[in-house]
Amino acid sequence: MAAYRCPGCGYVYEEANGAAREGFPPGTRWDHIPDDWCCPDCAVREKVDFEPMEIMQ
Ligand SMILES: [Zn+2]
Repeated sequence: MAAYRCPGCGYVYEEANGAAREGFPPGTRWDHIPDDWCCPDCAVREKVDFEPMEIMQ
């Protein structure tokens, strides 16, 4: 699964982990995250600003 990083603060959203406090259960695909979702850490950057990351398996 993929991961995406906030370019502002470095917060990483991993699809495999989800974001429980945001209401996204583990396995929630990036496609299913609302486009107006803001970074939960800095609340400055939005989903469209996030950058795809490589994950070492
Ligand atoms: Zn952020």
